[in-house]
Amino acid sequence: MKIWLDGGLQDIESARVSVLDHGLTVGDGIFETVKTVNGRPFALTRHLDRLARSARGLGLPEPDLDEVRRACAAVLEANPMPLGRLRITFTGGHGPLGSDRGDHGPTLVVALGDTTRRPDSTAVITVPWTRNERGALTGLKTTSYAENVVALARAREHGASEALFGNTVGRLCEGTGSNVFVVLDGEIHTPPVASGCLAGITRALAVEWTGAAETDLPMDVLQRADEVFLTSTLRDVQAVRRVDDRELPGAPGPVTAKAMRIFDEHATADLDP
Ligand code: PLP
Repeated sequence: MKIWLDGGLQDIESARVSVLDHGLTVGDGIFETVKTVNGRPFALTRHLDRLARSARGLGLPEPDLDEVRRACAAVLEANPMPLGRLRITFTGGHGPLGSDRGDHGPTLVVALGDTTRRPDSTAVITVPWTRNERGALTGLKTTSYAENVVALARAREHGASEALFGNTVGRLCEGTGSNVFVVLDGEIHTPPVASGCLAGITRALAVEWTGAAETDLPMDVLQRADEVFLTSTLRDVQAVRRVDDRELPGAPGPVTAKAMRIFDEHATADLDP
């Protein structure tokens, strides 16, 4: 397996990043996960825009997006696989111990992982911890994911594949690695970005392609919505068949099934929408 590091392809077994890299010591880094289909990335332009936005938000140097594109192409060419995920990681680079940034250069790693198509439906739980809709990192795709790791572990303990967070004022926000949609009286709604959720690329496409509304929603909407679904790069549109103890029999329901079809049709027609 070849990855991109320090400006070129390297074997994953021998590639080395400094143990003082701030991505490791203080989580000072950003990332993108890009789905690939038959060796081609999906929605790469949108992912690179978000990478640049996250870098600006964190005060990291602007990533060289041409290099990132070259790196993605090189890694894909070196590791053919039908369904994969490119992982682009960009960190503050190695520096002094502690939270101060030195004047060290950034580290860029592009790796490719295998992936399988997700099932059409899944179970989720809600967790009592909150997303901060007004934090310094809100809306940035940073490598500080430990809270998501903890929440996902709890979801797994409950036989679920995702955990959903509310925000500090009790509104529905997002999952550890996905955005959430609900269907009420035939209309599709998803929390606005102001709720503190990540501006998911799949979310944005689903909103554009299905006409879903961005609506401030209470947490208990999950207990009364007719249908619930998730969106993410690796799930696309995925129906929810259980939220905590509430079963949603027949998931995907008709509105979710239509959203899945619409998404698949558009995504197949245009790889860089
Ligand atoms: N929310 C969080 C916290 C995420 O990590 C992700 C995906 O990585 C998403 C939402 C979904 O975003 P996207 O559709 O761009 O994959």
